[in-house]
Amino acid sequence: MNKPYMGKILMVDLSNQTMTEEAIPDHVYEQYLSGMGLGAYILYNRMPAGADPLGPENILGFCSGFLTGTGSLFSGRWTLVGKSPLTGCWGDANCGGTFSPAIKHCGFDAIFFKGISPKPVYLYIKNSKATLKDAADIWGHDAVETEEILKQQYGQKAAVAVIGPAGEKCSLISGVCSDKGRIAARSGLGAVMGIKRLKALVLDGVQQIGAHDPAAMKRLSRHCAKWVRMPLPLTSGSVFARVGSFLRVTPVVFPQDGLLYANILKKWGTGGMNQASIEMGDSPLKNWSGSNRDFPLAKSKKINPDLIKNTEIVKYHCYSCPLGCGGICATKGQHAHTHKPEYESILALGGLCMNEDLDSIFYLNELLNRAGMDTISAGATAAFAIECYEKGILTKEDTGGLELKWGNTESLVALIKKMINREGIGDLLADGTKIAAAKIGKGAIEFAIHAGGQEPAMHDGRNDPGFNVHYSLEPSPGRHTLGAHLYYEMFQLWKCVKGLPRPSLLYTKASKYKINPEKAQTAAACSKFMSLANGAGMCLFGLFIGVKRVPTFDWLNAATGWQLTPEEYMAIGERIQTLKQAFNIKHGVEPRDNFISSRALGKVPQTEGANKGRFVDVEKLAPGYWDQFGWDTTTGKPKEETLRKLKIK
Ligand code: SF4
Repeated sequence: MNKPYMGKILMVDLSNQTMTEEAIPDHVYEQYLSGMGLGAYILYNRMPAGADPLGPENILGFCSGFLTGTGSLFSGRWTLVGKSPLTGCWGDANCGGTFSPAIKHCGFDAIFFKGISPKPVYLYIKNSKATLKDAADIWGHDAVETEEILKQQYGQKAAVAVIGPAGEKCSLISGVCSDKGRIAARSGLGAVMGIKRLKALVLDGVQQIGAHDPAAMKRLSRHCAKWVRMPLPLTSGSVFARVGSFLRVTPVVFPQDGLLYANILKKWGTGGMNQASIEMGDSPLKNWSGSNRDFPLAKSKKINPDLIKNTEIVKYHCYSCPLGCGGICATKGQHAHTHKPEYESILALGGLCMNEDLDSIFYLNELLNRAGMDTISAGATAAFAIECYEKGILTKEDTGGLELKWGNTESLVALIKKMINREGIGDLLADGTKIAAAKIGKGAIEFAIHAGGQEPAMHDGRNDPGFNVHYSLEPSPGRHTLGAHLYYEMFQLWKCVKGLPRPSLLYTKASKYKINPEKAQTAAACSKFMSLANGAGMCLFGLFIGVKRVPTFDWLNAATGWQLTPEEYMAIGERIQTLKQAFNIKHGVEPRDNFISSRALGKVPQTEGANKGRFVDVEKLAPGYWDQFGWDTTTGKPKEETLRKLKIK
């Protein structure tokens, strides 16, 4: 039988420069898939409790998706895993591009690194033959330059993942870059690669990837492609601003169908919702203290999706993606071409810092991608610094002469350059808001918006309380990719998974804030589904189209021949999620310590704008969510019987 997985991993010990191929038994794939699931399995079982994230015991894994290369669509994502030096918790980061199939083409489902190399190295794999090579000549180059150098040497077909100067300097908000600007940015795992003195991976293999029933895979993919191709008459990006304004004022809403969002992504990319998100209260502004009134349409029109689209020269698709939300754009700056900035980057470097200058957002986005620094955390930390300056906690002396003021583009650019280079105040800020606040003191922590040390994404949980649940309760805190109220509506899981509730056709916005068992059930369903999807290597944006149209469960069955029910697949997601939580408990994490900062919860509610008067009581929401997984409702720790039931112990 053709299997969708390669059945082995590569374990590289950088301390003694040895490499071991290991066969992974079938039952591990049956329980965890690969991707994030296999990563969690290896890290939970092999990393000693209390391992220093920046020490030799941390294990960094590059994990391909279980469905990658099987003929399924939207399944080209890979997951970077490790213990996060930013949060001290389970850490992962997700990325597209072409790196996921490259891991499998080299004959592995995942490549793991432990130890610390005595000198800078990179890993080169030609087919299945792996070699550690001296990286002295490429150390110090930015991520894009390094990729170009390595591709000149090994051919354009080779897939490259690399750290930039931020990772080399162990910035705790650094990530790993591939495809000249796609970045596995979250959790600070670039610093783990940097401390290990591992500059890059270069993969060049040709191994075939199988599937149990290729004809069924094709049939399912044709069905999916039909939905992705379905055009909706969307002409102007500025229309969405009006939709956002309407959503702000209407007291009654209806469940959203992700087909509309997919069409927006197809045409404009994730930035298609810039103005709408600001108008409806989804985008945090002015370091989470502002509202749409601070960034009205007159300002937000300067980051209108049409202006961004007009710079696009060619669309960009990750491997096996029929949608292509990415783009390569022409810029006015020193780099002729750049990846189209994502919504997250535009808002973190834009509205959060009150910066309305689109050219500077393009410029900073490229600069941060080349440096290998997370745009969300970088923008959020800059916004924190601006507020500290405004409050007199930081002075001109501290900033090296920079006037950190809201909307001052010049000083924002200069500040972020300092962060990348760890220069002056930038050194203090290069590890994110929580660590910077602790070093600054003087009450700065009040303005550090984080969950467990990680800056949350640009989706305000006061607008969609589901975001605050997931920011606060996920094993990797501060993340927006595991669930939200909106995600549950778009995944449409109730169409396949028995027992899950269908949202009402019309409901009041106020009802989103009510705490009841259904909220816990739907939030947990999102986490389980996304943990499964991250094992499979599926893209979140594809999944927004709906589980019947992007048939993840059916693809898994066709790829494996397992014939599991959707409920049984959801149980795999539940196991992965519980294993990540068990990882945290093993490493001494107290889940309650990860609740997001009180400003983002609305503990002091806003007095104007879209989120006026809103407060999300995560203290009261947590027990219900934890209970859905069989975790202790007071502490969030998985119960012994749960671990036994899931065969984790
Ligand atoms: S939708 Fe966008 S992020 Fe997702 S796989 Fe396609 S191109 Fe990549």
